[in-house]
Amino acid sequence: MSDNVLLSVKHLTKNYVSKKSFFGKPLSYVHAVDDVSLDIFRGETLGVVGESGCGKSTLGRSILRLIEPTSGELIYNGKDLRGLNKEEMREMRKKLQLIFQDPYASLNPRMTVLDLIKAPLDVFNIGTHDERIERVLEMMKLVGLTEEQMNRYPHEFSGGQRQRIVIARAIILSPEFVVCDEPVSALDVSVRAQVLNLLKELQAKRNLTYMFISHDLSVVKYISDRIAVMYLGRVVELATKDALYDTPLHPYTKALLEAIPLPEVGRKRSGMQLEGDVPSPINPPSGCYFHTRCPYAKDICSKEKPELKEGRPGHWCACHFA
Ligand code: SF4
Repeated sequence: MSDNVLLSVKHLTKNYVSKKSFFGKPLSYVHAVDDVSLDIFRGETLGVVGESGCGKSTLGRSILRLIEPTSGELIYNGKDLRGLNKEEMREMRKKLQLIFQDPYASLNPRMTVLDLIKAPLDVFNIGTHDERIERVLEMMKLVGLTEEQMNRYPHEFSGGQRQRIVIARAIILSPEFVVCDEPVSALDVSVRAQVLNLLKELQAKRNLTYMFISHDLSVVKYISDRIAVMYLGRVVELATKDALYDTPLHPYTKALLEAIPLPEVGRKRSGMQLEGDVPSPINPPSGCYFHTRCPYAKDICSKEKPELKEGRPGHWCACHFA
């Protein structure tokens, strides 16, 4: 494993039982995350995109072991997270954090900002009472909140400010790796850029590594260094931001990019259109999961699963013809 790799995900799979027999025997599964392997480098932002239901949130939560994966390895700084016992994993949680989509839902309306941000310090019993308050004030300043707002409640804040509270709480334990799950989707367009810029600033100041999950390719392009594209639980393409947007290899990525409005003069459409619905993850298609919607599908596509291969340096794609 390269020294620069913070987290190596190997063959990660998460299945949910969708139907049981009368005697409780599983009859069918939802294949939410299907054999995902990728590395996340220190200090980078890895964007994860795909349509709703593609498994990107399940991937993020499985990586943090907030959902227990069905199989696979999660090598974090050389240690397999799945091999840690409850106490070791609790200790590891200080380094691994999650920022949710809806800041209002993730903040207890009966707690003040001070108590909300301080909660992780209380849970891990870190510092004296005064030291904890000092730390909260430091975090509030860092995310652009003022000391006077300390004793207010979540409903007194705007959506953007509430997400700042969530971010302050997520970084108060000085984590190394943060999964940001659609952190700006619930915000007004006018404040999205502010929150994205705040995340970028914090990353530079505190040497954070992000996995940034979003269905919005424009948002992911703005914040990410590299991007993984997911389809029905599998990663179908992984590349640097520039390579993915300028020279996408996978037909699904091309179709997703096609759906973005064209702000740049001279940028041309590839003509690739995404048709039909996403197949059910309970009974995914054989071979390449995308073959039921792909205009380039050939016989082999329904028979053999294309592996994620490095077609160009650093540019991975799972397509028989890429
Ligand atoms: Fe399309 Fe076949 Fe490539 Fe899948 S493997 S994306 S079906 S061409």
